[in-house]
Amino acid sequence: MKRLRGFCLMVLFCAALCSWGCGADKPVQKSDMVMDTVVTLSASGAEAEAAVTEGMARLHELEKMVSPNLPASDVSRLEQMAGSGHWVVLHPEVYHLLAVAQDYAAKTNGAFDITAKPLVDLWGIGTDHSRVPAPAEIAKAQKLVGWQKLELNEKTHSARLLEAGMGVDAGGIAKGMAADEVRKIYRKHGIKNGLINLGGSSMYALGVNNEDKPWRIGLRHPRKDDAKEKIAVLPLSDEALSTSGDYERFFESGGQRYHHIIDPRLGRPAPSGLMSVTITAADKLEDAGMLTDLLTTTVFVLGPEQGTRFLRTLPAGISGALVDKRYQLWTTHDMAQRLEEVSKELQFWQESGELQ
Ligand code: FAD
Ligand code: MG
Repeated sequence: MKRLRGFCLMVLFCAALCSWGCGADKPVQKSDMVMDTVVTLSASGAEAEAAVTEGMARLHELEKMVSPNLPASDVSRLEQMAGSGHWVVLHPEVYHLLAVAQDYAAKTNGAFDITAKPLVDLWGIGTDHSRVPAPAEIAKAQKLVGWQKLELNEKTHSARLLEAGMGVDAGGIAKGMAADEVRKIYRKHGIKNGLINLGGSSMYALGVNNEDKPWRIGLRHPRKDDAKEKIAVLPLSDEALSTSGDYERFFESGGQRYHHIIDPRLGRPAPSGLMSVTITAADKLEDAGMLTDLLTTTVFVLGPEQGTRFLRTLPAGISGALVDKRYQLWTTHDMAQRLEEVSKELQFWQESGELQ
């Protein structure tokens, strides 16, 4: 009996040692610059190292497909062939991204428009040549924007832009798509706990963090320079999350703030009255990461009333938190209950129109 107890103790001791030191559940974390942002991939589990390494390689691969700076990328080739009538054969991932973008362009009457590139380039927000263009320049660029002039051919996985001068800008959707692709790799390696973080604006949280609790994502204060200042905290588990704001890529002129989210119908930064939009989508939803990314951009353009109304038409598992310029917090679905440490600066906006 004594021997058996000794054996059991030995087994327990080895098991404890192994879980701590054999690497089975040791968290792995790697960071790199991808898509002009710092990406950090974390995972734990037996295949964490392989998942993170493969995930990072995949991100670099995807960047090559959608980068506006590489002449051989799919989006650059589309732009080069614009107006020629020729179809451009795309990687399946890029074709899928364009198909989802077109679906939401139709659903939002062009509030999300992946062909907004001529306007994005004209304003140059976030670059060293940002400026307020003349109305005639805006009108000219607007003629080259229009999701209906991007044609897709599902059979051949190809696309074409109907007019010369048109272009595709995946800045409002590609990071979400990239998060989905890394999530697939995590699934293949059996990763249950991990965080895929693309610069804080798009992420995917799986399972629990190193303290065995849901991941805690801080929603950044939209008017404080210190990125660590939060307006709320959102516990996140098995969900994708994206945030769009007017506080990172913007310039000021004549006392006005010009941010990088363009209302293609107006040809200018969306005057929706919002400062930030955060959207989550359940892991069980197809394209969860891509949906959160494109939806934050879309809802930012639509504004709080139309944006929350639109979110309520979407499949269950998607919810949003919007902060407007009066520090009113607009939420959909269960978001109000989920948010923690909500700043006293914020007032919850209720559908009745009353502030709480
Ligand atoms: P979100 O807030 O989700 O969306 C805003 C972005 O979407 C805008 O910046 C614009 O790109 C696009 N957009 C604006 N209005 C609309 C609309 N109505 N409908 C659809 N899309 C819209 N930036 C650099 O400065 N240098 C680089 O070298 C560079 N390389 C990049 C390479 C890749 C592959 C990608 C995907 C992006 C790159 N970017 C680069 C960043 C890019 O230009 C955007 O600024 C960035 O993706 C915005 O991220 P976000 O999460 O804040 O966007
Ligand atoms: Mg977005």
